[in-house]
Amino acid sequence: MRVGIDGPVTVGIDIGATKILIGSVTRQGEIVHQTRYGIDLSTESLLKSSIYHSIADYIHEHRKENLSGNIGVGVFGHVDFEQGDWLGTMRLPGMEMIRFREDLKLRYGMNVALDNDVHTAALAELHLGKGREYRHFLYVNVGTGVAAGIISDGRLIRGASNYAGEVGHIFVGRDMEQCMCGSSWCLESAASGGGMINRVIRWISEYPNSRLLPLVKSGEITTADIFKAARQGDSLATKIHKEFIWSLGIGLVNLVNILNPEAIIMGGGVMRDGWLLKELSSFIYQNTTGVSRRGLKEITVTELGPQVAGLLGAACLAWDYEKTG
Ligand SMILES: [Zn+2]
Repeated sequence: MRVGIDGPVTVGIDIGATKILIGSVTRQGEIVHQTRYGIDLSTESLLKSSIYHSIADYIHEHRKENLSGNIGVGVFGHVDFEQGDWLGTMRLPGMEMIRFREDLKLRYGMNVALDNDVHTAALAELHLGKGREYRHFLYVNVGTGVAAGIISDGRLIRGASNYAGEVGHIFVGRDMEQCMCGSSWCLESAASGGGMINRVIRWISEYPNSRLLPLVKSGEITTADIFKAARQGDSLATKIHKEFIWSLGIGLVNLVNILNPEAIIMGGGVMRDGWLLKELSSFIYQNTTGVSRRGLKEITVTELGPQVAGLLGAACLAWDYEKTG
């Protein structure tokens, strides 16, 4: 443990689709240590063993430090918050639940709080990010998919099944591409990184002169390429870009009118572009009702580093859980 760290540190675990990040976090939000591990999604048992081996390695390595006895875990997919079980993910249909709280209590005698990664990212904003300035805000993550954490009166809204904030599945238009949830009406088909790339691949044959064609052929297309091509006037990219703003804008206008937040804080890879934020903000301010609009003080991008926001959020989850049980 480093000299100058006052009090115990909390272990945060961020389980993403491409990596597992485990770290020790102080109450001030400083990451004292962090270790990145691989995750194996190829089968359910390899997934489980890659996660549990990573945790065992980290705890073994840091067991002599002043650990708080609480672990916060953020995962993608659906979580039973009350029980501390990971119920599954659309990426692994039919996956058997993983009983994090029960298993980790048994192995290490530690208390475990578990939630989905967008809820933990919203808690990171609330305790350590721009959300400290507000009591009512939306944290909206636009990455491979789209999801939100809703903070109302200083608390995260979880809903009846801990599924509140699934903004990606707001219906915005019929007969779009089929979403992972099975519907063809979802915002995520037009307004997520994964959805936009699928659209390019699906529509490219109708746009043989598109700048995106060589990128599709090489299989290396990114959302940054799509927006760059849109700025250069490419017709296919412009169509995808317009529908991105329109779909995400509709979803957020509806949420602002329903929830009356003071701020929208955007996270995820796609929204780091200031140009997009400006366009999205104008759409939202133009289309929300007057009272909601006046209450909405800021639409901005998170200041928390994308690599560590999940880890910080997992630690914040453990602190909240410690307080409320
Ligand atoms: Zn959907």
